[in-house]
Amino acid sequence: MRGVGVVVTGAGGFIGGHLVAELLRRGERHVRAVDRKPLDDWHQVHDGVENLVADLNLRESCERACDGARDVYQLAADMGGMGFIETHKADCMLSVLINTHMLLAARDAGARRFFYASSACVYNAEKQSDPEVTALREEDAYPALPEDGYGWEKLFSERMCRHFREDYGLETRIARYHNVYGPLGTFEGGREKAPAAICRKVVEAVLSGEHRIEIWGSGEQTRSFMYIDDCVEGTLRIAGSDVTEPLNLGSSELVSVNQLVSLVEDIAGITLQRYYAPDAPIGVAGRNSDNVKIRAALDWSPSIPLREGMEKTYKWIYDAYLRRYAGGLGPRPDAPQGAHVRRRSAQP
Ligand code: NAD
Repeated sequence: MRGVGVVVTGAGGFIGGHLVAELLRRGERHVRAVDRKPLDDWHQVHDGVENLVADLNLRESCERACDGARDVYQLAADMGGMGFIETHKADCMLSVLINTHMLLAARDAGARRFFYASSACVYNAEKQSDPEVTALREEDAYPALPEDGYGWEKLFSERMCRHFREDYGLETRIARYHNVYGPLGTFEGGREKAPAAICRKVVEAVLSGEHRIEIWGSGEQTRSFMYIDDCVEGTLRIAGSDVTEPLNLGSSELVSVNQLVSLVEDIAGITLQRYYAPDAPIGVAGRNSDNVKIRAALDWSPSIPLREGMEKTYKWIYDAYLRRYAGGLGPRPDAPQGAHVRRRSAQP
């Protein structure tokens, strides 16, 4: 098909599903949403969109995805939380096939813009060894010592974007996402990230009456967490900007995992006995987003308070958990317009 406006890859996933929703809200008329999962497993399936199931590891799938595209948002990646990326390093690195083939296909299709979803996992691990962190500036990615597997692939693909821009004139834009959370994402199965995992564990404690929770590591590790609405807004702003270098896209509200658990306990109105799993995968000791560059470039940075976002996330996970395990099926009453919310996420 010729003349599609925007292509979103990884559209069956968490961020991609929300991005498609926002593009539609903003009046984008020709959207192609691409993911390799069967449609039944997409977190959101939107009406009025060309939904394409294709494996973007393959070059011909990328050519099909990019055919006639004006703007490409490349979000597809084989990824998950620390529990996944620390145990699937080769799988994470194989996403280089997606990025390579998508860049080639976007170039050959004559796309105007190519947005790449990179990650704070590109940052040098030695700058993240203390929970009392100094927020990471964009230049802290070099000299390179990123997260093994996943982070190396992201850093390599960032550079590929840069060289496709310099050598072939493809206008690439890059955001380094820092821990995104919100409704309509994975909350169990092994790929979930800390905010969703903690919400699910608290929901399970509430529903089972067993008032205990397992926390990975000492709980002293620190992070910042960005609500999905800020992520989508920032993605569209960065994609539309003139900033060619990678920009941090993350909250600067730093919390420890223990504090995050306390916050969710407070939202749920419960106090849990804490058990620590010191050998569980935890990633770096501390990480925060320095937002000086994004503010200077875009006069904007993520601002949704953690509590506000976590209240919405907890509520959604509570309802989704009940629907999944208590038999209630079908679309949620508060589902985004035009979206069929799936009962199960795709992740095993
Ligand atoms: P997600 O896992 O929910 O979505 C990724 C989607 O990509 C999945 O639906 C998956 O099926 C799809 N995909 C994987 N391999 C594919 C292939 N070969 N062909 C087609 N589709 C394929 O993840 P997300 O949280 O929505 O993340 C989106 C992007 O943002 C990813 O590139 C991720 O690395 C990046 N990112 C996310 C976070 C975060 O906190 N969520 C942080 C940093 C970076």
